[in-house]
Amino acid sequence: MGKTGQILGLAMMLLAVSSVQAIELEGDLVQGSLVRGQVEPGSQVFLNDKPLRLTQAGRFVLGFGRSEDLVQTLKVEFPDGTAKVRELVLAERSYDIQRIEGVPSRTVTPSEASLERIRREAEEVRRTRSRDSDLTGFLGEFVWPAEGRISGVYGSQRVYNGEPRSPHYGIDIAAPAGAPVLAPADGVVTMAAPDLFYSGGTLIIDHGFGVSSTFLHLSGFDVTPGQAVKKGQRIARVGSSGRSTGPHLDWRINWFDVRLDPMTVAPAPKSGRTPPLVDR
Ligand SMILES: [Zn+2]
Repeated sequence: MGKTGQILGLAMMLLAVSSVQAIELEGDLVQGSLVRGQVEPGSQVFLNDKPLRLTQAGRFVLGFGRSEDLVQTLKVEFPDGTAKVRELVLAERSYDIQRIEGVPSRTVTPSEASLERIRREAEEVRRTRSRDSDLTGFLGEFVWPAEGRISGVYGSQRVYNGEPRSPHYGIDIAAPAGAPVLAPADGVVTMAAPDLFYSGGTLIIDHGFGVSSTFLHLSGFDVTPGQAVKKGQRIARVGSSGRSTGPHLDWRINWFDVRLDPMTVAPAPKSGRTPPLVDR
């Protein structure tokens, strides 16, 4: 081997070492975001000491809550026995206060009997979102599930009829009752509940690895639990069921019990309207 060959060989070896130890992250390091990652296949990844699930190809996902601690620690143990610790510093967000009047008073101050129902339904939703499947729909690009004006954003502090309540965790898209709702990514239907107390007609789709979409206030479903759905497929119809003041779609994304901002997977349109739906 000539001198040039030796140098080239050395350079390629260095390149191989650095690419093997790379931690690639896709997504903004900000409160509320969904972040996808890539490491060498066969590695182990830990977020603040919690082990994450990896695909055969070394892909993984994680998410940060609305008020998440700003410093997070990602540790990767590579197949060759070496390890790398990367500190993730999240950007802090500020959230709006949103005042909503004209909400039915039974949903602002529920009766004793309703509280039992609310608790039971919340537990059912929590259990559905805790599913840790090996589906990989979360790896693809997400599309907007409905067409219309964005009328509510993630994180806003909500005041109903003058009474402060918990923050809003979805994206609201104003659309006529009966308008189609499309799957934003591939997945499997894990819940289709026609009438929950707060969220009315509620559909949950599992995109894999703890990532799920929830759709609220629906007027009807086009799919049933257990059914596999493709991105862009019609899954439901917009409605105004539950605690709602008019027809709209409320779309939420979770990473297990961590509530994320759907805008971190579907970029915010500058027009304030979601793009026209693409029928697939
Ligand atoms: Zn909403």
